[in-house]
This record gives sequence, structure tokens and C-alpha cells, in this order.
Amino acid sequence: MNHSTIKRRDFLKTAAASTAGIALSPAAAGRAATPNAVKVEEPFHGAVLNRRQGKAVPGGLEISVSGVAPAGEAVTVNGAAANCQGDKFTGSVVLREHETDITAQTAGGTKHAVRVVWDRYSQPRYRFSVDDNSFFLRDIAGKKYASLFDCWYLDIFRKLNKKYGAKFVLNIYYTTEDGFTLPRFPDRYKGEWEDNADWLALAFHAYANMPNRPYQDAPPEKLIADLDKVAEQIVRFAGEKTYSPPTVIHWGMTRTTAFKPLYERGVRVLSGYFVHRNKTGWDINYRIDDKRSEYLSKHDALKDFASGIVFSKVDIVCNNTPIERVAPTLEPLTKDPNTAEIMDLFTHEQYFWPFYRRYIPDHAQRLDTAIRWLPERGYKPVLFHKGFLGGRM
Ligand SMILES: [Zn+2]
Repeated sequence: MNHSTIKRRDFLKTAAASTAGIALSPAAAGRAATPNAVKVEEPFHGAVLNRRQGKAVPGGLEISVSGVAPAGEAVTVNGAAANCQGDKFTGSVVLREHETDITAQTAGGTKHAVRVVWDRYSQPRYRFSVDDNSFFLRDIAGKKYASLFDCWYLDIFRKLNKKYGAKFVLNIYYTTEDGFTLPRFPDRYKGEWEDNADWLALAFHAYANMPNRPYQDAPPEKLIADLDKVAEQIVRFAGEKTYSPPTVIHWGMTRTTAFKPLYERGVRVLSGYFVHRNKTGWDINYRIDDKRSEYLSKHDALKDFASGIVFSKVDIVCNNTPIERVAPTLEPLTKDPNTAEIMDLFTHEQYFWPFYRRYIPDHAQRLDTAIRWLPERGYKPVLFHKGFLGGRM
């Protein structure tokens, strides 16, 4: 994603982008609601719900539904009478399918519907994504090791896999911009990649590290063309089994018109920070609207039905989190039903390399500390491109 502090130039760009986002926002629904309209406020449209957020009943998950309606008007929720008090109503529905429409309707005939996703076979799980990868590929191509894992960088991940069963997706660039490009990476390790594909995947991240935010305002065709170039190389040198559709685009920023083309390339999950910055608003959020960004800042996941993509909130960025801060960062998330089920762990390649100006000598220990913490609490390692957010569908 990103690894440098935001410069003034980017602030201005982001400010412009988020203004455009508000103007075009489909979430105008929230603001457009008139006092006479019925509106479902909970659950949130696109919510991904699991057993922590409702009550398990035979064959389903019972969840509460609440919202507002004109005072004095009877309200039904999916046909069943809701409790009304003043301008508030509450009811419940049982989710029985992967996706369910929830419709609140007044006696006067006005209605409002939201759709939610049931993560039916949900279990505590974690995924680990590493962004901005390119140096290790240049290293292996140059040193011509007998094994991929003679490269100390990949060996870090193999050790973590052996110790904890951890799985990793490495999000890669096409070029290091100093002469190395993916076509220079040999295919002689293909069998070794494939032998390790159950825990080590490669995905497109960007064409190169610079410029910053390369796809924030790029036409989707540009993003897809770069994706295809990298995907073709991954398949050539590491095999189909190793290939993962992207799960993080560099800087976590794209046009929203890129979602559908990305889905068509196999993307099912995109992770971002969904962070609010005082001067510029919501950022590292794939430019989705403010309401959904705010929701994601406090929840594990949210589905965008228009494209089919589920957004996931990154829970920890290891290169920004000193060892003593790892447990205090993860622990509160495990206590909140909205953030406890899926841990989205994350870091960046460059901080591992001593030649990098912001090299972090204990980076590998930070990963070990974060990853060790999770299986001790029942979290299973997954890759997001398999199943639903890495879990059973
Ligand atoms: Zn990046």
C-alpha cells in the first residue's frame, strides 16, 4: 500500500478526489432520507455478518433490524410486524441464505431495503499480506540460488509457516526500475513455487513503486493492463497454483469504476486502511463513499454489491507497529463482535532490506510476534482469494 508520509501534493490530490467522491456518492440515500420515509439503519447495507453479530437458530442467524419511520405508522420487516416507539422501529429477521434482502415497509406503503451477507461457516481466521514486493525477485534472479528459500527474505516466511502454519500473499511489482523486470525472473523455480502454493501466493500490486497512488485516478484500463502484465509473468514463472488475484492495490486507491473490471479478473476482496485524516477526509479506501468508509473503519468487512467485491479492513501494519504495541493493537479487536472474526495482517517488503533508508532491523520479529498471537487465540491462517474471505462458502 503506502509507506511514506503523505506529502502536501498528495493532500491536495486527495482532497480533490474526496470532494468528487461526495458529489458522486450513491450513499446520498442517507442524506436524502426525508422525515416521512422509512429507513433501515441497522444492519448496514453490505454488512457481512457472522454468529458474533446475531443469534444462531436452526438453519440460520437471527439478527436485529432497526431504523426510523414516521411516528404512529405501523412498520413491517420482511412482512413481520415491528415494534414501534415514536419514530423508531425494531424487529428481527433470520438469515438463511448467503445474501438476504431486508425490507422495512410502512402501512402507508413506503419502503426501504438493505442487503446483507451471512458468513455462514465463519470461524476466527487471519490472513497475512505483504505489499510492495520486488527486491526479493531481483535478488533471486541475480544470485541464482539453488532454492527459492536460499533467499533469506522468503526463508522468513517459510519459517513462520513451519512454526505457525501462517500463509502469505506477496503483492508484487513488474519492475524495480533499475533494470530488473519480471520477464528476467527464471522459470526454473516453478516446481518449488507450486510445491508451496498452499501457503505462499503471488499477486499483482502495481507496475512499480513510483509514482505514489498510481491508480487513484487512472483509467481502469491502465490498472487492468498492468495487472495482466504481472499476472502473465506470475503464471509463467510460478504456475497457476501460486497465482492469487490482487487483494491489495498499491496505496489502496482506485477509481470505483475499476471494481467491476477487477472482479472480472477474479478479485473478490480488497483490503484497505479506511482511515480518516483531519484535513483530507477518508483515505486508503479505494475511493468508496464516506459512510461506507466510516463503517469499514469499525468493522471487518463490507460488500459492494454493484461489483461483487468485499472490502476488508487492515487490522495491523507490522512495519508501523513496534513489538510491544502488537498485542495492544490486536487485543481490542478480538473483544468487539464487529472486528473479532477476521484479522487482516499486513506489512511491506522494503523495511526488511538493510539498504532501504527506513530499514527496520526487528521487522521479522514483529511478524513473528503478531502471527504467534493469533493461533494461541484460535485464529486459523487463510488466503483471502480462497472461499469467502478465506473461509468456507
Ligand atoms: Zn503498496
